[in-house]
Amino acid sequence: MLALTDEAGRLAVLRQLNLLDTPPSEEFDRLTLLAARMFGVPIALITLIDATRQWVKSAHGAPSHDMPRGATFCEHVVRDRQTLVVADASEDPRFPATPFAASGAPVRFYAGAPLITRDGHVIGTLCVFDYVARSFTAAERHSLEILAAQVMTVIELRHSSGRLHPSSRLPNGAQFGEDLADLTRRLPGQSRILVVIDVVDPDHLPTHINLLGPRWERELPAVVIRGIRAVFGDDLTIYHPLSLRFAFLLDPSASPGWQDKLDQMMARFRQKTIEEVPLALAPSLGVVPFRLGDFADQVLLQRGVMAAHEARAVGRMLSPAHDGPGSAPGSAPGSANDWHDAHMLLGELRRALALPGQLSLAFQPRLDFTSGACHAVEALIRWNHPTLGPVSPGEFIPLVEQTTLMTELTLWVMDTAMREIAAFRACGVALRVSINVSASDLQSSDIAGRIAALLARHDLPAEAIELEFTESSLLPNRSFVHQQLRAIRERGIDIAIDDFGTGYSNLAYLKSMPASVVKLDQSFIRMLATSARDRAIVKAAILMAHELGYRVVAEGIETEEICAMVAGWGCDEGQGYHIARPMTAVQLAAWLTERAAPAVAVSLP
Ligand code: C2E
Ligand code: MG
Ligand code: MG
Repeated sequence: MLALTDEAGRLAVLRQLNLLDTPPSEEFDRLTLLAARMFGVPIALITLIDATRQWVKSAHGAPSHDMPRGATFCEHVVRDRQTLVVADASEDPRFPATPFAASGAPVRFYAGAPLITRDGHVIGTLCVFDYVARSFTAAERHSLEILAAQVMTVIELRHSSGRLHPSSRLPNGAQFGEDLADLTRRLPGQSRILVVIDVVDPDHLPTHINLLGPRWERELPAVVIRGIRAVFGDDLTIYHPLSLRFAFLLDPSASPGWQDKLDQMMARFRQKTIEEVPLALAPSLGVVPFRLGDFADQVLLQRGVMAAHEARAVGRMLSPAHDGPGSAPGSAPGSANDWHDAHMLLGELRRALALPGQLSLAFQPRLDFTSGACHAVEALIRWNHPTLGPVSPGEFIPLVEQTTLMTELTLWVMDTAMREIAAFRACGVALRVSINVSASDLQSSDIAGRIAALLARHDLPAEAIELEFTESSLLPNRSFVHQQLRAIRERGIDIAIDDFGTGYSNLAYLKSMPASVVKLDQSFIRMLATSARDRAIVKAAILMAHELGYRVVAEGIETEEICAMVAGWGCDEGQGYHIARPMTAVQLAAWLTERAAPAVAVSLP
C-alpha cells in the first residue's frame, strides 16, 4: 500500500508519464471543454503538480501558466488525496489569499478531483473555477470524479503499449503522430526541425552485441537518451519510433544555436563509453527542417530516417580511417563541418533533380579502331550549382551512391540520355549511348522493367543503350546482381564492365556475369608509354578478354602514341581526351559532322 508521504515515488511516476512541459493536446482539451460545459463554469483545467510548481496540461477559459505549488487549491487536492470543493473562497478561512485569478477577476468557486494513477499516486487534478460563489451537489462532485478518471484513462492510454516503445517507455511513432497533429492544429506553417538519431551503424551492431551481451538493447538507447538530455535538457520530448532510432522536434526560433548543440551532442556520443566497455558510439544524425503541415507524420519520420542514413553514408565517405566501434574518439563519422557540407551537397542535389537547369549530360565519343568511326558515346553527368559552381561527379556520385537518391539520379540520366540519343537517331545517326549505373540501382526491384519502359517512351530499340557497371558494383550479393543483370540482358541491353582492373575480381569471375564489353581502366592506359609493366598487363588483359568473348574498350587515351599502341594490340575501341573530350549534345553533333564524309551533316533540332 502506498505511503501517504511517498512524495519521491509520486514525482517519479509523474516524470515517467512524460507529460510535464509537453505541448497542449486536443484529447485533453476536449475533456476540459466538456467539464466547463457540464458544470456551467467559465474555467476548467487539468493540472499536474510537480515538485515545486503547478503545471497546466490543458486550460479552458484561462491562460495556462506555471504557478508556485503552495499557492494553489490543487495542492490541497494532491496533499489530501481527495476532491476539494470551495464554494466561496472569499468566505473560506482555509484560503485567506485568493490563490487563482484570471482575466483580472479573482475566482471564488473551485472544485477539483484528484488524478489518481493505477498504483495510487495523485499526480494532479481536473478542476473547475467560477468568478462567482456557487454550490456543488454530491452528484456534480461524483461527475467531476468520473471525468477525472477519464483524464487518467487518456493519460494511461498515452502511456500504454500503443503509445510507448516497450523497451525505453518513451513515446513511440504513434504518439509522435498525435503530437505532430496537435502542434500543426495550433501553429500551422511554423518552422520546426526534426532530428532523428540512428543509434548504431548496422555494420557494427554484431560487435556491440558481442561486447555488451544481452544488455545491448537497453544500454545503447540509454546512452543516447542521456546524451540528448545532457545537451537539450529534461524537458525535451524524445520519441522512440523504431528500435534503434530516436527523434525529437526543435523550434529553431526558440532554440538559437541548435546546430552547435547538435554538434555538442554528437561529440559526447563519440567520447562515451558504456560502463566498462570502451565503445565509441557512432550514431548518425538526420536533420529535417520543415513547416508544420508540410508532411504527414510517417512521411516526416521517413525523411528523418533517410537523412540519418545519408549522414552515415557521408560519414563513411569522409572518415576513411573510421575502423569500427572500438576506434578512438573523433574517428566516428563526419566532423560537424564535413557533415554539414556533405549533407548540404546531397540536399542541393535533391533540389537540382527537381528543378531544370543545374544538371546536364556531357557525351564522350568512343572510337571504333576497326572502322575509324564513332558508334557509341558515354553519358557523363555534369552539375553546375548556382553558387558552388561545377561539382565533379567524382565528388558527389560516391555520396549519392550510398543513398536512395541514386536511383532517382540514374533514371534522370537515362531519361535525358535517351532523349538526346533519340534526337541523333531521328537525324539518321545510329548512335548508342553508354550509361553509368551504380550498384545501388541493382538493388531496386525490376530495374530492367523500368529501363525497358523508358526505352519504349523514347521509342528506342534496346541496342541504342549500353549500361556500364563498375567491377566493384558487381561483387556484393552476387546471385541477386546476377539475376538483375540477366533480366537486363534478356531485354537485349548490352552490359559493360567499367574501370576494369581497379577491383579485385578476375576475368574468370566476371565471366559468370552476362556482360559483353570490358572497359580497361584509365590508370593502366595512361602510363603505357613509360611503364613496361602496364604494357604487359594491358596486352594480356586484351587477349584474355577476347578469349572470353568480350569487346574491349581502352579508357583514358591521352596521346596518339597510346592510341596506336592499344589499337595495335587488338583493342576494339578507345575513349579519351586524345580522341575527344566529353561535350554537349550540340558540340557532339558538330564533332560527328566534322569527322563524317562531307555529305553528312548532323543537325540537332
Ligand atoms: P567513368 O565512368 O570511368 O568515366 C570516365 C571518366 O574519365 C570521366 O570523368 C571522363 O571525363 C574522364 N576521362 C575521359 N577521358 C579521359 C582522359 O583521357 N584522361 C583523363 N584523365 N580522364 C578522362 P568524369 O566525367 O569526371 O566522371 C567520373 C566518374 O563519375 C565516371 O567514371 C563515373 O564513374 C562517374 N559518373 C559520371 N557520370 C555518371 C552518371 O551519370 N552516373 C553514375 N552512376 N556515375 C557517373
Ligand atoms: Mg563509365
Ligand atoms: Mg571508367
